[in-house]
Amino acid sequence: MGEFDLIRRYFTRPSPGAVVGVGDDCAILQTAPGMQLAISTDMLVEGRHFFPDVDPQSLGHKALAVNLSDLAACGARPLAFTLALALPSADATWLEPFAAGLWALADAHGCELIGGDTTRGPLNLCITVFGEVPGDATGPTRTHALLRSGAQAGDDVYVSGTLGEAALGLQHRLGRLQLVAPAAAACRARLERPTPRVALGLALRGIASACADVSDGLLGDLGHILERSTVGAQLDNAAVLACCQWANSGIDAQRVRDCVFSGGDDYELVFTAAPAHAAAVAAAAHASGTPVRRIGRIDTLPGLRVLDSLGRAVAASDSGFDHFAQADHTQTGIAA
Ligand code: ADP
Ligand code: MG
Repeated sequence: MGEFDLIRRYFTRPSPGAVVGVGDDCAILQTAPGMQLAISTDMLVEGRHFFPDVDPQSLGHKALAVNLSDLAACGARPLAFTLALALPSADATWLEPFAAGLWALADAHGCELIGGDTTRGPLNLCITVFGEVPGDATGPTRTHALLRSGAQAGDDVYVSGTLGEAALGLQHRLGRLQLVAPAAAACRARLERPTPRVALGLALRGIASACADVSDGLLGDLGHILERSTVGAQLDNAAVLACCQWANSGIDAQRVRDCVFSGGDDYELVFTAAPAHAAAVAAAAHASGTPVRRIGRIDTLPGLRVLDSLGRAVAASDSGFDHFAQADHTQTGIAA
């Protein structure tokens, strides 16, 4: 199978939303009046972000999911994506399930594959997604996208879904932690098939003051919001731990804690909203079918404090995953 057969067979489908899709030198997208393009790229490298023996269908899902998660964090509606692929060989037994996982998630979000690049090389996947958000760059707000920069002192801090499960799944896969059957399956599923919170991101437009997706760990990604917004935050220790159903299940408490606060690959949304919008946040969570939990409050004191029920500081490592800060470069399963 040659390069162009491969593209035709696995990665070419009608893309009615695009003016020009796969097959020309550029794809062409028409932007709607009053809308802006939100664009994000994420690369997945074998041995770095996924295990060499990962199920290709899950990999197809995850490659797109991590990109859709960035659109979700901006409150952008997915439109289209491009796929750059380096493959060691044109292996149909790998390409078939990989494409199936990719298309299933793409179809679920109405996100069209409009182009890409295909080359021989060590397995490497790079997807760029294009989404749309309302906005007028000449107006006072410039965009209605959710940004990291809008958090204000007094805002509540929320997180969607669950935290730490993907990191627990990774620790289990690496043999550093023994999970029993139900936890192992749940955590592995979260590691390999994350759910991008697209509907929640859309529902939070006009409600959340700042938003980011949790790809590198809660403390790290919330830290990005604090930095961009030049504010600080205090988190309720118990509320954060309540985001993980395995927190009191007998698994080593410190390990669970590290995974919940600092583990990567959750692809949940961490966001802030004024207390006056608390009911609107609950309505957005309900309308999008996404559980949301309040975990703390923004304040003016820089930095991040984790407090127990008596208001005493609880030690928490404050860094998210940084590909160049960590000594252990053999770790895999951490994306974005
Ligand atoms: P060019 O040489 O002009 O960059 P290519 O010959 O590499 O174009 O690709 C031919 C067409 O196939 C282009 O429209 C390109 O966007 C598309 N394409 C290449 N690889 C992929 C892929 N993995 N998925 C989807 N479309 C692809
Ligand atoms: Mg090319």
